[in-house]
Amino acid sequence: MAKIDVQKLLSTYDKKDLTIATVCSHSSLQIFNGAKKEGFKTLGISVGEVKKIYDAFPLGKPDEFFIVDKYQDIASSAKELREKNVIVIPHGSFVEYLGAENFLNLALPAFGNRNVLLWESDRKMERQWLEEAGLTMPQEIKNPKKIDRPVIVKYHGAKGGKGFFIAKTYKEFSKRIIKNKKYTIQEFVMGTRYYLHYFYSPIQNNGYQLSKGSLQLLSMDRRDETTIDEVQRLGSIAELEELGIHPTFVVTGNIPIVMRESLLPKVFKMGETVVETSLTLFGGIIGSFCLETVVTEDLEFKVFEISARIVAGTNPYIAGSPYAELIQPDLSTGRRIAQEIKYANKTDKLQYILS
Ligand code: AMP
Repeated sequence: MAKIDVQKLLSTYDKKDLTIATVCSHSSLQIFNGAKKEGFKTLGISVGEVKKIYDAFPLGKPDEFFIVDKYQDIASSAKELREKNVIVIPHGSFVEYLGAENFLNLALPAFGNRNVLLWESDRKMERQWLEEAGLTMPQEIKNPKKIDRPVIVKYHGAKGGKGFFIAKTYKEFSKRIIKNKKYTIQEFVMGTRYYLHYFYSPIQNNGYQLSKGSLQLLSMDRRDETTIDEVQRLGSIAELEELGIHPTFVVTGNIPIVMRESLLPKVFKMGETVVETSLTLFGGIIGSFCLETVVTEDLEFKVFEISARIVAGTNPYIAGSPYAELIQPDLSTGRRIAQEIKYANKTDKLQYILS
């Protein structure tokens, strides 16, 4: 459990002069852009140097850079950052580079509920959460000898799909598996992938109503994964595997997508039950989260992962998405986060959305 007393941290803050900060990577251009649109000062935490790339995008460039030698130094710089009234927006790279344990103990107010990290990073707990929420996950195959259909083998802690592989038989599995590495075997779900980007506000009632607060759907994307997504340019997977060429699942980008409208009720129901279950399990997920799904030919969703913060799949939508556009023109996830902080500050509710 995170031991940070956010109220205590905020007690020294000048609330009229808040700064939104994040690590310069991942979705930072979007986060800074959204924060600027909502009138916040912005600060980019960068390792080693000011990143020149931000000069190329003035509307996504933070007002100030905070340079650290290594990510772990963010924790030891917390006091200095608090003096700048910094609220940090965690994203995937922020948490990964700093390390989950360090992030849990980071003495800075952070957007969202840090306790979600424990439920999300442990595959067993994640499954418990999502299954209690009534979601269907890909079946797990405990014993590799029982592989009787295409499966995807996932190494624990592997980011961006690195090292994942497909096997259709135990023989194939044995050939490819790296000994001494922890792994999970899941059925390979046949269908089309949709990565659904939600926003849950525990303090505002301006969306799809939940028992407490409301839920919005801001966008969806499909990840572009090398080499699996274009491998067919060279030949069938089976053909290539015979030559010892195996597809990989490394994320390189994101493609915008919309879904047939008749599936949206299911999308909201899944978001709803995920939030409601999280309220019971650990006090609730807050803000942006993503369900990573495959839609089967029976139009059923199988959810293989949850990411409990802003994901890079929201980056195609810095100027809004086909869904966000129906909420407010020009609404990105980064901007929605800034709006939540602004509203909470105005109504004296920061402690309900920060941890
Ligand atoms: P993950 O790290 O769990 O997000 O998985 C990386 C990528 O592997 C996903 O973006 C999907 O393309 C693919 N993937 C993961 N799990 C499954 C599954 N059970 N069935 C089919 N594809 C999957």
